[in-house]
Amino acid sequence: MDRMNLQEHVRTLAMLPETDEPVVSCYATLEDRRLREPNLVDEQIQAIRAGLTGKALQALEEALQPVLAFLTLGLSSDAKGAAVFSRAGKEPFFLTLRFRVPLPNWIVVDTTPRIYHLVELKDTYEQYVVMLATKGSIRIFEMNVGTATERLSAALPELRKDSGRKHPKERYQRQMKERERRFIKESIQVQEQILANKKHSHLILAGHPTMTARVHAELPASLLTSLAGVVRASDSDVVQATIDAFIKAEEEESQTIARKLAEQISSGDLGVGGTAACFEALKRDQADTLVLLKAYTPGQFRVCRACNSIAPEAGRILTCPECGCEKSTYLDIKEQMVRLAEQQLCAVEVVNESEFLAQVGGVGCLLRYRLAHKSGRGRASVSEFAGKQSESQNGFGGSRSRTAA
Ligand SMILES: [Zn+2]
Repeated sequence: MDRMNLQEHVRTLAMLPETDEPVVSCYATLEDRRLREPNLVDEQIQAIRAGLTGKALQALEEALQPVLAFLTLGLSSDAKGAAVFSRAGKEPFFLTLRFRVPLPNWIVVDTTPRIYHLVELKDTYEQYVVMLATKGSIRIFEMNVGTATERLSAALPELRKDSGRKHPKERYQRQMKERERRFIKESIQVQEQILANKKHSHLILAGHPTMTARVHAELPASLLTSLAGVVRASDSDVVQATIDAFIKAEEEESQTIARKLAEQISSGDLGVGGTAACFEALKRDQADTLVLLKAYTPGQFRVCRACNSIAPEAGRILTCPECGCEKSTYLDIKEQMVRLAEQQLCAVEVVNESEFLAQVGGVGCLLRYRLAHKSGRGRASVSEFAGKQSESQNGFGGSRSRTAA
């Protein structure tokens, strides 16, 4: 599974139309073609069955059956994690995903698939390309969570030593340098093609410092923007050395987004913080990037059926504070936010640590446009053209496939 496929599957799951039938979402850690903790998975299934009878139980069993069959028979040897989504009934749905990284053991039943774990994985599952430049050779690898696929292996052409006649030393060195330069340039062209075709967002330059410096000097602007790091590495440690550099670059990227969010929120500009404000922004399709702290666990929220406003379940207020309605449903608000974000092609960034994010409640949104506040509390209208301007200014709209409303 590569990142592009994962992105497509996440979107399919986010867009799956809701019906009355239950959707089973199952995540598991695997080991040697088996569940690593079969008892834990069994216990969770029993717990889900426990409260159900009659038609509801039957609907659950029908959705569960193919999941259990897959977990018994469908596991390949190199998979360390699996995710399965299943719905029976009139609009059946079944999707299995296998990963080379473990996933938490978790089974849950709802009317929509639970996708947060996949979204978090997508954030770090990114592929990258390594250019390994050592003395005399340049090799290009595609890295996909720890496995390397070699795409190019080229050795620096040696100057033919003419028999009997020696090259004058300087001329030989000059020719050598020129050939090396041409060789580097040709390798860079291959590298450019690979990055353009595969939409890898990161390039890591690895190898002997003398060579990486020479390659670096020849990199065109298009590749410099993708460059996530330059590391010293040899054939034997290239995987580990570049993974470390990649993870570091990923985390730096997260921190940059978290800082940007802090700036935007503090200045009251294109940012909001906290569960309720972010949920509102996502409902309005106003969010550009949803930024979540990895430890963010808001739990269940009560959603008013009349006006859609939300309140924490812990509040235990039976009437809606906004409209007074007494009917409400309960939502796993984090899942719901991630689902809205994926539906709207809004970027999702998971940040390992951020003091600022923790202070604003573990979640924030960078916005595509500002709401122009009118006199009434909480009532607002979209300020004209603000979206387009801000999107090009903040630079986060680049990968979006649509323009601001
Ligand atoms: Zn209400």
